[in-house]
Amino acid sequence: MANDVCFATMKFDQPWTLENYLEIGGYEGWKKILREKQASDDIIGELKASGLRGRGGAGFPSGLKWSFMPRGGSDQNYVVCNADESEPGTCKDRDILRFNPHQLIEGLAVGGYTMAASVGYIYMRGEFMDEPFRRVEAALKEAYELGMLGKNIQGSGWDFELHIHLGAGAYICGEETALIESLEGKMGKPRFKPPFPANFGVYGRPTTINNVETFASAAAIMRHGSEWFTNLGIPSAAGTKLFSVSGHVNKPGNYEMPMGTPFSELLELAGGMLNGAKIKAVIPGGSSMPVVPGEIMMDTNMDYDSVMKSGSMLGSGAVIVMDENTCMVRVLERLSRFYQMESCGQCTPCREGTGWMHRVVSRIEHGLGKPEDLDLLFDVASNIEGKTICALGDAAAWPVKGFLKRFRDEFEYHIEHKRCLVGPGSVRRDNAA
Ligand code: SF4
Repeated sequence: MANDVCFATMKFDQPWTLENYLEIGGYEGWKKILREKQASDDIIGELKASGLRGRGGAGFPSGLKWSFMPRGGSDQNYVVCNADESEPGTCKDRDILRFNPHQLIEGLAVGGYTMAASVGYIYMRGEFMDEPFRRVEAALKEAYELGMLGKNIQGSGWDFELHIHLGAGAYICGEETALIESLEGKMGKPRFKPPFPANFGVYGRPTTINNVETFASAAAIMRHGSEWFTNLGIPSAAGTKLFSVSGHVNKPGNYEMPMGTPFSELLELAGGMLNGAKIKAVIPGGSSMPVVPGEIMMDTNMDYDSVMKSGSMLGSGAVIVMDENTCMVRVLERLSRFYQMESCGQCTPCREGTGWMHRVVSRIEHGLGKPEDLDLLFDVASNIEGKTICALGDAAAWPVKGFLKRFRDEFEYHIEHKRCLVGPGSVRRDNAA
């Protein structure tokens, strides 16, 4: 589309090249900041005016986050890009890394300058070691050669060194304090907060961590201005958003759309329902967000408030579409297994509770469930939610509560009939008898 923010280079055959990035005005925002020696407060003011909110899942206002960073009193500040994209259903950051790596680098350079951080890291998911890593690595080299990074950039007297760090494939390293631990060479286990990273981050120094899409959007805002960005979205949600559409659709993929786009339009863009089946349910913001019945989603717009009203959250923008033949019990069994495996084990409610939830859902799926299991599941989820060091506990509890709230009848049917409600296609071999 004409007003792409993060996918602006996609119109070219090789969208990732420096030549193509320069063609769309790449690095002009960064050069202007340096040329005019813009004040940090002015840049933060522009970012606040744009209305940009973090695109990693929490949706925290980015300008406000940048303003929290102390700009004096420390020998070293850091900016870090969280490129550890691992939330099931989410695959948008990977495509920015592959197709528009220079825009991420420009966003990090601007962020570093604004927050007095002369060193930055891109913490990249281990599984991205092939194409995304190679593209960003090549772009980094080009940016240094062009004089956009390094010492005394453009004769400004400002230094900024940017490094890539490959993770080892643990979901929990997407949590920002676990990411910091991993970056420092330790086990990726979340820290207690406070202190927050803005005061005690990488090596105990002030650190700001933003998602790939957030930094890439910030670069475009510096190039085009805050008004351009706000005009792309709706008053309560500025700009565009990358939506990773997966599941039972004809054309799964990443789509950049203005905030506030109706879900029905997004579904149409993704080719509509696979085999013309009826829509049953949607997880609108990545696997940790509550599931929403299809008929409610068809009347929902894709922005923070609207998705919240539907009973879920926009999260990372990963839209998982399920058709009428999908067994909700089996879906929850898969999800609960994921969170059990990815728990770092530090706190008891998460370590024990995720395993407990998976075992109960699993026995329901296998025809061994008891009527009291549904209350037990709800109880275990409630005893995890809000009682753990990091948000993985909530991420494990919310799908359980969401599926029970919206599709309790399917769970009851499984328990009573020891088979699936949605037909023989979804009956497990081990419970078919
Ligand atoms: Fe680890 Fe889970 Fe506790 Fe997070 S909530 S610190 S993942 S045990």
